[in-house]
Amino acid sequence: LPEDFKQALPVLEEIEQAGFEAYFVGGSVRDHILGLPIHDVDIATSAYPEEIKKIFKRTIDTGIQHGTVTVLLNDASYEITTFRTESGYQDYRRPDKVTFVRSLADDLKRRDFTINALAVDLNGNVIDKFDGLKDLDKKIIRAVGQAEARFHEDALRMMRAVRFQAQLNFQIEAQTAQAVADNAPLLSKIAIERIREEFVKLLLSQSWKTGFADFLKLNLSEYCPGFKDQRVELSELLNAEGTFVDEDAAWTAIGYALNMNHPEFNRFLRDWKVSNKVREASVNSLDMLHLFENQDYDLWNIYKFGLDNFERVLQLCQMLQIEFDYVDLKQKVEQISIKNSHDLAITGKDICEILGVKPGPIIGKSMSQIERAVVEGNVYNNFDELRHYLLSNQ
Ligand code: ATP
Ligand code: MG
Repeated sequence: LPEDFKQALPVLEEIEQAGFEAYFVGGSVRDHILGLPIHDVDIATSAYPEEIKKIFKRTIDTGIQHGTVTVLLNDASYEITTFRTESGYQDYRRPDKVTFVRSLADDLKRRDFTINALAVDLNGNVIDKFDGLKDLDKKIIRAVGQAEARFHEDALRMMRAVRFQAQLNFQIEAQTAQAVADNAPLLSKIAIERIREEFVKLLLSQSWKTGFADFLKLNLSEYCPGFKDQRVELSELLNAEGTFVDEDAAWTAIGYALNMNHPEFNRFLRDWKVSNKVREASVNSLDMLHLFENQDYDLWNIYKFGLDNFERVLQLCQMLQIEFDYVDLKQKVEQISIKNSHDLAITGKDICEILGVKPGPIIGKSMSQIERAVVEGNVYNNFDELRHYLLSNQ
């Protein structure tokens, strides 16, 4: 057993001692077998949430209606979920109501893909009811049971298929892929937040191009905001080199591929319900990227945008193979002699004295005038020069 599982063993042991079953399940089992780092160890059990709460002293009701209780033990926390089935799917969405069951097999059956339907017991034995190990070995994403039926139960699983494809660099098995292509319109039933979560994970993956190519090929893109009839434009991104550094970079690349202007891109990101922070950063980045593409190196603009952001956009331009004179731009930007107004060799107090005025809005105005002149290289950042500049620009 890997270290993460070993640490969690006492949890399994305590549950078993109380007369119930408990297993490691889901992503951690998959990632462990693949030799990948494990993030969170999920545990599934035959004990009901109330029973788990009796076994452990410190618990948190994380999602008790779905059967999940967090157990705190030895400075770590573990999510423990009761075996469950999900019946009564309505409208192609995962049901809110679940039924707790006592059988591991029933719990594994409701999971999305064979590679996610593995369990490991406290002795390290793998329980593999759906040939998940074989699919892991063949690098295949295959629905548990009838793919078509599984996507009807929960259409988000189609997005999860391409997301895992990108994260693991796997292929989607032929029948499962066909079922995605056939049922892609069902994606319109799914809340955009849930689609976005999978889509962003896809884009930020090492093998994002593999997942993105199938996202387009299997028609999923047609049912996402702003992507209808944009397959040709979006597939341009498959020529990019490398990976996205963060969510902002990924959205910016998409805005670029779709040839969006500022308001269009803003609207598009709102439709995807991207966070305000990410939306604002992405919109700014796309503006900047367009300036570079047009060889419009406005130093004041770049400076206000922030030099860290500048580097990130430059990196994105390289990734997208946008052509312009990088060396020229970098040289110009390197000549900016200050990072922010605090680096100016003159203060507001100095300006008051030089001009013989009291503090007020005029000082702020003079300050930014000086700042801009320094950034644009029109005056040296040294006290005497700035003083002279100030007096001669009154
Ligand atoms: P990650 O590394 O992203 O956490 P994961 O496999 O753990 O990957 P989660 O979304 O955390 O993915 O879900 C945990 C497990 O729950 C999955 O491995 C799968 O067995 C099951 N699962 C999650 N979402 C679904 C779904 N929509 N339909 C069926 N099973 C699901
Ligand atoms: Mg997980």
